[in-house]
Amino acid sequence: MGMSIRLNPYVMSLMDWTRPLTDPIRRQFLPMGSELEVDHPCLTMDSLEEKDFSPAPGLVHRYPDKALFLVTSVCPVYCQYCTRSYAVGANTTLVQKDHVTSPRFWDAAIDYISKTPQIEDVVISGGDVARLKATHLRSLGNALLNIGHIRRLRFATKALAVQPMIFLDDEEWVEALLEIFERGRKLFKHVCLHTHFNHPREITPVVERAMRRLNEACVMVRSQTVLLRGVNDDEKLLIELFRGIGRLHIHPYYVYVCDMVRGTEHFRLPLRRAQELEKEVRGTTAGFNTPLFVVDTPGGKRNIHSDEFYDRELGISGFMAPAVSPGRMFYYFDPLRSLPASGRDEWLSAAGKEKILAGLDNRTSMAVAAE
Ligand SMILES: *Cc1c(COP(=O)(O)O)cnc(C)c1O
Ligand code: SF4
Repeated sequence: MGMSIRLNPYVMSLMDWTRPLTDPIRRQFLPMGSELEVDHPCLTMDSLEEKDFSPAPGLVHRYPDKALFLVTSVCPVYCQYCTRSYAVGANTTLVQKDHVTSPRFWDAAIDYISKTPQIEDVVISGGDVARLKATHLRSLGNALLNIGHIRRLRFATKALAVQPMIFLDDEEWVEALLEIFERGRKLFKHVCLHTHFNHPREITPVVERAMRRLNEACVMVRSQTVLLRGVNDDEKLLIELFRGIGRLHIHPYYVYVCDMVRGTEHFRLPLRRAQELEKEVRGTTAGFNTPLFVVDTPGGKRNIHSDEFYDRELGISGFMAPAVSPGRMFYYFDPLRSLPASGRDEWLSAAGKEKILAGLDNRTSMAVAAE
């Protein structure tokens, strides 16, 4: 198991214990026997290559005008499919974490941001900003707002979905948060909250009360969703989810195809399934409440319908990101379980992986030459 376990009574209460094996809430947070499904042969630990683009501890600066600042390695609950399981949560038997994220590391990152004028936009994530002390949240937000070239801040927290009462009860923390939002507004900088809803059952009356408070304070909230097999891989459910959060003025932003993370193979779906779901969802509600379905690659989030090629037998799709990494092809690999027997046998044969990857190199050279 790559992720430690942390749960709270609120999330426990959302689970349906009469059907624990299939319950979509339980499946997200408690390990399952099916996670013994072997990882894809092409899986790497840091699938987004974030460690290669880190100018200061906790900071990832990969795209021209934005940076990702990982300020903590703890969350209110831990998701079994977490993309950052290489750093988030306590060590597990499968993963020794890189703990670079805590307030004593922030100065170097803030210093780098202040000396790098092309950065306009900072995603403050982790981990979860709901786990920061109010004083740390306030000083971090102010330090970033003080940097002249910063135009946008996004605070990432899953708490709205898994611990919404923090927005109603933890006055010290909420006040610090709202203070940063208000100061941002006065400075004509855009500050918003990014959260993470995966299932309509996560939309509860407490979430609505929290959103009423945030809405009154003019806090804009966006949500990201991860497509997970056996949790939300169903068009009716996704439509209900996006319409439901849309009614609470939470804007659905991205739907991620599940990244290739160790020990999460059982959650992944083939790209074609994500493409089908996207087509079913688009058109069912306002366009601005319809998220973009993406594959997250080291070249950034790419629209799942923008594949350069898709070999369904071997389950390999290719994406390009000319503005970020010209000439490079990024691949997504469908889970072996979803392939026809011929494709699966090829992957599992002795020379399988090397031969397939050599074939990909040829194909990429041709695609790049044709550009
Ligand atoms: C996702 C991400 C961002 C933000 O990307 P948007 O597409 O603007 O939401 C920034 N930096 C890194 C490293 C990211 O992974
Ligand atoms: S809340 Fe986000 S960072 Fe934390 S465990 Fe879940 S997916 Fe990972």
